[in-house]
Amino acid sequence: MIPFILVLMILPLVLLGLALALGTRARDKWGINLKPVHCPACRSPMPQIRRPKSLRQALWGGGTCERCGCQLDKWGRRIGQSP
Ligand SMILES: [Zn+2]
Repeated sequence: MIPFILVLMILPLVLLGLALALGTRARDKWGINLKPVHCPACRSPMPQIRRPKSLRQALWGGGTCERCGCQLDKWGRRIGQSP
């Protein structure tokens, strides 16, 4: 019998691991992308060390293209409206 408190401690870790694994497969915000991405608009590579420009970028990854200013998610997909 596993102590209940141990289950309470381990369960969130298991759920987090599951979210990361499924998110990486589905390419959603929970996933982890270790591959370099390029801007979909101007094809310029995104810097590997990113400086988040918003809370969303800090939390979920992605960034703003230095060249054309369009917003990407961590998978290199465009977000929102482009100028
Ligand atoms: Zn760009």
